[in-house]
Amino acid sequence: MGQRNFATAAALVLGLLSAGLATPALAQGPMAAAPAATYDGLKVTLCGTSGPLPIRDRAKACVAIQAGSDFYLVDVGPESTENLQAWRMPIAEAKAVFLTHLHSDHIGEVGEFNMQSWVAGRPQPLILVGPTGTDHVAAGFNEAYSQDHIFRNAHHEHGEVKLPIAAGLLKPQIVPTGPATSVVWKKDGLTVTAIAVHHDPVKPAYAYRFDYKGRSVVVSGDTAKWPPLATASKGADVLLHEAQNAQMTGMMVQGLKAMGNARMASVMADTVSYHTTPVEAADIARAAGVKRLVLYHLTQAGLPFYNPETFTKGMNDGGPLDWRLSKDGMTIELPAMSPDIKFGQLPG
Ligand SMILES: [Zn+2]
Ligand SMILES: [Zn+2]
Repeated sequence: MGQRNFATAAALVLGLLSAGLATPALAQGPMAAAPAATYDGLKVTLCGTSGPLPIRDRAKACVAIQAGSDFYLVDVGPESTENLQAWRMPIAEAKAVFLTHLHSDHIGEVGEFNMQSWVAGRPQPLILVGPTGTDHVAAGFNEAYSQDHIFRNAHHEHGEVKLPIAAGLLKPQIVPTGPATSVVWKKDGLTVTAIAVHHDPVKPAYAYRFDYKGRSVVVSGDTAKWPPLATASKGADVLLHEAQNAQMTGMMVQGLKAMGNARMASVMADTVSYHTTPVEAADIARAAGVKRLVLYHLTQAGLPFYNPETFTKGMNDGGPLDWRLSKDGMTIELPAMSPDIKFGQLPG
């Protein structure tokens, strides 16, 4: 067990002790399964809300979606697995991870999440749904973690505790290329639809729409302003949309030039063509008629010059819209067959 894993496990045990719940069995599934008995619907948890730049209190792109007792992720950016563990999310119930595209800020912790959810008790391989190339990502992480899995299996599989190596693998499932939308998952009342978006030259790239018992959430992934996303998001309860303020990006480009870093200034300038501004995200949300817009994957949030008012300036100009900015730990509950939308916040 690595130092960080040890620290996480120690914190978990201390938490359980303080709650009077410290038995070995409760460290896995049953603790996590408890809320599902009293709640049915979709529950969204923002496990990573930053863009690709290093921000101390935000993990990279990650959205957890619980449908009934099943647990899913859309993207697993760096630092996000530790968030999930610190909040004691039911990662052993993970059925699939949906990758929007294969940029590193969206896939960096696929291997870590796969390993941690397997050790926590996941009894079957983790399905990795994503664009062409996802098979390479799955094979690469399986190879990189193969020795780790052998060691953990040899050390920890004894008595009642099983860690079958086959259950620790990632199994890729490629989204069909071509159609604007395609259903990629159907299980226990949940339907997940992949929506092709525009993140060129990263192609294909997808948003995902989750529909469960009359409730719906769309996660944009990375995209330039893309009207077909509005079409595919029609009437959704919640649209989670990425956001990058183009004027702030321009300031960053000028700053990098002034510092003599022409290379990073050029890289930064390139990013404007394949992201969406907050004002554009608001346009998409209005066109789709979604009930709530939540901005996530916020390129500038947390940087020294950032302030929310400047970042979101102009979002209200196009008409009424219920929107908000996210930070790590935001939760959204959508109870089955109900109009309710309840926001909450886990500790940072
Ligand atoms: Zn990204
Ligand atoms: Zn990207």
